[in-house]
Amino acid sequence: MGLQIENRTIVVGGGPVGLITALALVRKGVPVLVLEAETKPIQDPRGAAFHPPTLEVLEGLGVLDDLMAIGLKIPVWQIRNRDGGIIAEFDLGILKDHTAYPYRFHLGQQKVVPILLAALAREPLAQVRFGVRVTGYAEHQDGVVVTCEDDAGAAGEFSGRWLVGADGARSAVRKAAEIEFEGFTWPERFVVTNLADDLGAYGFAFTNYVTDPDRWAVVLRLEDEQGAPNWRVTYPTDPGLTDEQVLDPASVQERLVDVISGAETLHVRYCGIYRVHQRVAAQFRKGRVMLVGDAAHINNPLGGFGLNSGVQDAANLAEKLAEVWHGRADDGLLDRYDRQRRTSNIEFVQKASIRNKKMVEERDPEVRQKSQAELGAIARDPVRALGHLLESSMINSARSVAAIE
Ligand SMILES: Cc1cc2nc3c(=O)[nH]c(=O)nc-3n(C[C@H](O)[C@H](O)[C@H](O)COP(=O)(O)OP(=O)(O)OC[C@H]3O[C@@H](n4cnc5c(N)ncnc54)[C@H](O)[C@@H]3O)c2cc1C
Repeated sequence: MGLQIENRTIVVGGGPVGLITALALVRKGVPVLVLEAETKPIQDPRGAAFHPPTLEVLEGLGVLDDLMAIGLKIPVWQIRNRDGGIIAEFDLGILKDHTAYPYRFHLGQQKVVPILLAALAREPLAQVRFGVRVTGYAEHQDGVVVTCEDDAGAAGEFSGRWLVGADGARSAVRKAAEIEFEGFTWPERFVVTNLADDLGAYGFAFTNYVTDPDRWAVVLRLEDEQGAPNWRVTYPTDPGLTDEQVLDPASVQERLVDVISGAETLHVRYCGIYRVHQRVAAQFRKGRVMLVGDAAHINNPLGGFGLNSGVQDAANLAEKLAEVWHGRADDGLLDRYDRQRRTSNIEFVQKASIRNKKMVEERDPEVRQKSQAELGAIARDPVRALGHLLESSMINSARSVAAIE
């Protein structure tokens, strides 16, 4: 007698990308089981910036109104010097003929996840289980059997027709599939801080890239759990310092007042440190397994592309997997998911995030001056500014993906 495989797709990882994959699949009539290792959603401050093509995906899933009700529309972003001088300012309003969402949208992913869970709870085809850590899988002719352990360490198994690894940068699914995570790790780590101060009083827009060879920063306006202003400042560490030295409150304070020109003391609500990589999985599909989100690719946060790219993976994969599920296409269509999303990540996300990092930290004064003058000129010329924003808002990359066969 053959192995009994449950008629469903298993999504490993209940982060934003796994939940969006699940929601997109059930909306297309594909039953889904989500397995999440933690007993409740992760609360750490992480991805928070959404670009227009991602907002279009969220609108299509019917969750955008709920997200918009608690997030911030960001019409303008700036590139600045550490002394407070503005190098370039871009107004996303000029994208209005290209998208229904001519702005960035800021909302911490820890606030996005509960809205996705609520949407899934209304779907009879969706099941989400917390406290189930996937440890591996075996592929059979008709499906997969994943092995897992619960919080108490007890082993278990779940079966399904297809397996989606949405289990983040250290993906157990990717490792079990023996898929290389190709790329490199930057020597410096990044510090993420949340501040209670109003940085608008120091002239900051709601999104800012502050340039400097060693002390560059990204400054974003978010909101806290109660809807009060919360500013996130991200900056690089000196690779020679230990985590303890970097996170020493006096050191954090010194770095922050250095970048927030004019401030004397800042009020730090949260401070964390993390490693930053540029890596892309060698395959996004292997047999009955597909990778999405951070399981498939990771990059530095300059430009806010990581989470956006993951959401776009989810939408792309769900569309194709549903066609295969319902027998309207053969499984070769899933290779197109690999070609489209892997190419897009390599050609756009990896290159653009590395270019943005290089731009903010340029050391050569001549190159630096030239690049800043060029950015200022682009921002002042409406035609060039439109081209720049179509690129940096991921609209061009979303369009070019569709053309990949
Ligand atoms: C400190 C930090 C700051 C960041 N800042 C930004 C930013 O400013 N802009 C941006 O675009 N991106 C940012 N990112 C990246 C962004 O957070 C990720 O791109 C995003 O979280 C990807 O979502 P995901 O659902 O793919 O993965 P995750 O959010 O990592 O979710 C993966 C889920 O899988 C679960 N899981 C893991 N292993 C298993 C297992 N074996 N079994 C079952 N479940 C498992 C995890 O518990 C988690 O819930 C940041 C990341 C970090 C760490």
